[in-house]
Order: sequence, then C-alpha cells, then structure tokens
Amino acid sequence: MKAKLVFPPPSKKYGGITWGTEDLVNPPQSGIEVLAAVARQRFPDADISCISDSVASGMSAEDYAFSYRTVDDVVESCADADVVGVSVWFHNLESGLELAWKLKEIDLGKRVVLGSYGVSNPLIARLVLEQHPAVDYIARGDGEETIVGILRGFSPQQIPNLFYRVDGKVMMGPSRPFNLNRRPRWDFTHTQNYAAIMEGYDSRTRLFGELRKGSGGSFIGRIGVQFTTGCEKAEQEGPCAYCTSQRTTTQSMLAERFWGQIGHLYSTHGITEYFLCDDIAATLPKLRALSEARKKASLPDNLQFRAYGYAPYFTPEDSTEMIRLLHEVGIINLFLGIENFSPEVNSKSHKRAYGYPEIADLIGSLTENKVDVFLPLIVGMPGESEETLRYNADCLDRILDRHAKKTYGEGGIVRVDLSGGMPLRGTPWYNNLARDREVQEFYLKKTGMPLQKDIDPDYTTLREASAIYVEPMGVSPQRLNDHFNELSKICLRYLRPQQIGGFDFQP
Ligand code: SF4
Repeated sequence: MKAKLVFPPPSKKYGGITWGTEDLVNPPQSGIEVLAAVARQRFPDADISCISDSVASGMSAEDYAFSYRTVDDVVESCADADVVGVSVWFHNLESGLELAWKLKEIDLGKRVVLGSYGVSNPLIARLVLEQHPAVDYIARGDGEETIVGILRGFSPQQIPNLFYRVDGKVMMGPSRPFNLNRRPRWDFTHTQNYAAIMEGYDSRTRLFGELRKGSGGSFIGRIGVQFTTGCEKAEQEGPCAYCTSQRTTTQSMLAERFWGQIGHLYSTHGITEYFLCDDIAATLPKLRALSEARKKASLPDNLQFRAYGYAPYFTPEDSTEMIRLLHEVGIINLFLGIENFSPEVNSKSHKRAYGYPEIADLIGSLTENKVDVFLPLIVGMPGESEETLRYNADCLDRILDRHAKKTYGEGGIVRVDLSGGMPLRGTPWYNNLARDREVQEFYLKKTGMPLQKDIDPDYTTLREASAIYVEPMGVSPQRLNDHFNELSKICLRYLRPQQIGGFDFQP
C-alpha cells in the first residue's frame, strides 16, 4: 500500500501570496505529517510519505531560496500511490482540484481525498463532490481516523468525518473529533526533499546562523505545532464574520505531551523556532498549563514561538500575568488579531467593540516587555466608511510612530500584514451575502457564474457586492484601493519592505 499526503502549491491567481514572514524557504507542512504519523502507526508496513508545496536550493545565506513545485511535478511524484490525500486551503484549492484530475487521468483506480480548511465547510464539500468526479472523498475536521479508515478500505459509511457519494448523491459520515492525546510523535523525515529545506531551520547548522544574521536577527517562527484545536472566542461568542474556522468546540492535549513533541522535533531537526498555530494560543489557562509543564520538561532554553493572540483577551486584570507567562512559555512574537482600529467595524465583524486606546495600551505593554508584534489589518470589512478609513490610516501612523521596530527581538511592531477583506466561503459574512438575491444577480452579471455554484469565488466582486447591497460602505472599490496603498506607504515610513505582507488587494 502506497499513500502520499500532499500540500499543493498555490493556485495561479494566488501565486503572489505571502505568509506573514520574510527571507526563508517555506517549511514542510506539519498538518499532513501529523496525519501520516497516525497512519504509519496503524500500518507500519505501508509506504506513507508527504509532499509539501516547495523545494529548496542553495546552501549559503546568499543562494538559499525556494521555488514552488508545479502540479505536474506533484502528479509525477504520486504516480505510484494507491491513495492520495490533498490538503487544501483557499489559496491552493484550484491546484488541488487540478491535481485530482491529473491523477485520475493516469489511473482511475487511485483514491483521491481532499481535506482541510479549503473544503471542510459542508457547502464547499458538496459542490466539489458534485462538480469534480475526480475527487472521491472529502475529509472534514479531524482527518486522523478518516485517512486510517480509507487506508483500511472501510466502506465510506463507517468512516468518521467523511463526505462521499452514493448513486451521485453527496452524503456525510458520522462526525467524531480525534483525541489530541492519541497523536503519535511526528517529524519531517518522511517529507520529500525535507533535508535541503530543514537546513535553514536547523539551529545546529551554519546556514541557520547566517540567515538570521542577514535578516537583522529576525525571529521567524514558521514550523507549525499545535497544542489545542478550536477557538474559545468562537465557542463563547460565535465566530468572527470573516472566519473560516468551523471549530466552535475546543480541545487541548496535555501540556506535557506538547513539550514532548517539541523535544522530538528539536532532537530530530534541531528546530528552536516554532509557530504555535492554535486559533488563539494566548489565553490565560493555556499559558499557565504550558508554562507549568515547560518547567518540568528537559528542553533547551532557546526555544521560541510565534503565536496568535486575540486583543480583547488581554484584559486589564489579566494582561500583566499573560505577558509574564508568554515569556515563560517562550512566545516572543505575537500575531495580534486587530484587523481594524474602529470599534464599529470590529463589532460588525462580530468582535468586541475595542478600538485604538485599548490596542495602543496593549501594544505598549508588549513592547515594554520585549514581545514582538505582528499587526494584521483588513481593508474593506463590513461597516467601513470614509470616516473609518481616515481613522484607520491615522491610527496606523500613530501606532507605528510609537512602536515600529526594524529589527526583531527588541519588542515592538515588526510586521504589518495588509489584506483586502475576503468573504471566504463558509464564513458568516459569505453566508449573509449568498442569501441575498441582489448579490446573487450582481455576481452572475459580473462573473458569468452563479455564486452558489462557484467553488472558488471572485472575492473582489463579492466584496463589492457586499458594499453595495448588504453592508453599505459609502466608499468605492477605487477608494478602498487608494486607502490600501496609503496604508502601505505609511508602513514603509517605519518598516522595511520585507516587514510588510498580506494578501494583494485588487480594486
Ligand atoms: S477569526 Fe480567530 S478569533 Fe475569530 S472566531 Fe475565527 S479563530 Fe476565533
């Protein structure tokens, strides 16, 4: 039995996407390695390996670089596989579908399964199975038991977390979360060409030191690790309007187990820099658990993490304690979910109506305590107006003036990610739009595609429709584009170009 788990390269229209960091080769994707480790544990004799989206070349700081694989290259690597699992997000869904079709052209008997955020919404899963016979199944939510069930050859009805067809009709299997404490230890030794990529992430290599010297001592946490699943904010207050996370139930592994996994990655690959990719890692209970367990674990002192934080959780009562615990855990870089400085826009996004004063206080405390901050901003969210655009530009200027840093590790804002608001399929924002008849007609007229049937929608058109029919903004698409450029220019006054990222904005 041969199985390949693949993270495909970005689709053509998202080729320019940048992921919150600078200067380094894309690491192998952790999610598919976790699934592969579970599958190998159950099938020790099977040949199960992973293919990530990139390859590395060069072994010195000057020429170490990455290039994306092509879909054809991935097809060739999967030619002898019986089962191919494809992990898709929104940016590589189209590539994943192209891969599925090309694999079936080689051999109709291959089983092709799509999974992860890009298809876990039931609506998208149905559309993909209805429109793409090359895809046999879709895994939704936790894929551990799903991939094992497929490899065992169980009938689809018996496999948890699976969409499948019966006589052309799309059906959904039982839903069952996987216990995080049953995850075996995993590493990247089964990812194709991992060694060249990991050279830049291995703290024991000369290249590692050279690369970090060249980027101003920047801390770049990109190796994904996970302590919990689900989002407390979504669980307690409902998901944010632009959120694709469908996980409103949270689950945590034992903190000791988490540190055991980190110790394994350190001893196998020398990794000291991680991205703790929990939906919200910086909550008081999680930080306490991680801090206590870390004290008892035998680990190197120089472990560092980047993690997500949700600004309203840093309440006046808890903030000081949380910042102290961030240090104890090793979180020195916080991706702080701000998105907008305007309380009105934030409350329309179904977030607490916090605004500039609270954000400035929090970033001030983080800066004083030497925690670096990544600041994500989204342009064109519901509720934007000429007034909020001007307010956001002014707030960004003020906060960067006070806290921007061109070097990492000293505390302060070290990166701004500017993105256009995208009503991604499966988000509450999208669902609201999809119900509106005028939006449907507008979308059909502009794109020639019925919105309900479009698997990979044109989000610029949807944002425009949102502004005209559902959430009037009083600003034109051109004005949003100008505003986006204005924010970029403000960032450039305080940061290096490499410190500015996000998704390209198109009017
Ligand atoms: S956007 Fe983040 S904070 Fe909001 S519901 Fe989704 S995961 Fe939670």
